Amino acid sequence: GGGITGAGVMLEAARRGQRVLLLEQTDFAWGTSSRSSKMVHGGLRYIAQGDIALTRHSLLERERLLNELPGLVERATYLFPLRKGVFPGRWPMKAVLWLYDFLAGIRDHRYLNKAQLLKRVPGLQDQDLTGAMCYTDALTDDCRLVMRTLLEGARHGGVAQNYARVVQAEQSGKGEQGFSVTVEDRVSGELSTLKAAAVVSATGAW
Ligand SMILES: Cc1cc2nc3c(=O)[nH]c(=O)nc-3n(C[C@H](O)[C@H](O)[C@H](O)COP(=O)(O)OP(=O)(O)OC[C@H]3O[C@@H](n4cnc5c(N)ncnc54)[C@H](O)[C@@H]3O)c2cc1C
Repeated sequence: GGGITGAGVMLEAARRGQRVLLLEQTDFAWGTSSRSSKMVHGGLRYIAQGDIALTRHSLLERERLLNELPGLVERATYLFPLRKGVFPGRWPMKAVLWLYDFLAGIRDHRYLNKAQLLKRVPGLQDQDLTGAMCYTDALTDDCRLVMRTLLEGARHGGVAQNYARVVQAEQSGKGEQGFSVTVEDRVSGELSTLKAAAVVSATGAW
């Protein structure tokens, strides 16, 4: 599969000197990897679920992507509106964002009062609005991220083929090691069989 998972597997395997062939049934990044919300987030909601280890892991990956891919992964500002009587209020949200930034090794959140918020977002419904917490996460162009990862994988010797659908992958017969993989060329309709030592299914929802 030629989404971000397959592209990442191809890059990492090629980097380790493996011979890798990635097969994609349609075009690269055709699946969810071009239809996401484009967020490279640290997972604020994982904190709400109490999973600090996962939040820290995601935040460090976010910071790594920001450093390694400037122009492709960019920091973006988010506003969390606060309303009278609605949980979480200013102070619980501030504590969560302090922890969120602390785990990432940055300090990038602040409080905006109602006037400051409405100046930034003039159309916001202002009933019971008290202000907002302002913090940052990151955004990317998910499709470009896949293409970039594939290109880097190819630079390390990996091969990516689109319009090639895996029809079947089964363990080779007795006495043989690895897998026998049947591939359909979606342009000509031809079927061919390949041998592989290992198969990684990165076919997303399929
Ligand atoms: C609405 C939405 C919003 C999201 N927002 C975010 C977000 O903001 N941030 C974030 O990090 N994540 C987000 N995600 C999650 C993210 O998009 C997915 O985790 C990611 O795209 C999964 O990538 P993948 O490579 O596993 O799957 P996919 O991108 O779906 O790739 C699978 C590929 O496998 C191919 N394939 C399937 N069967 C075969 C076969 N037999 N032979 C060859 N190829 C095959 C498909 O054609 C497809 O291209 C969002 C997801 C959705 C749906």
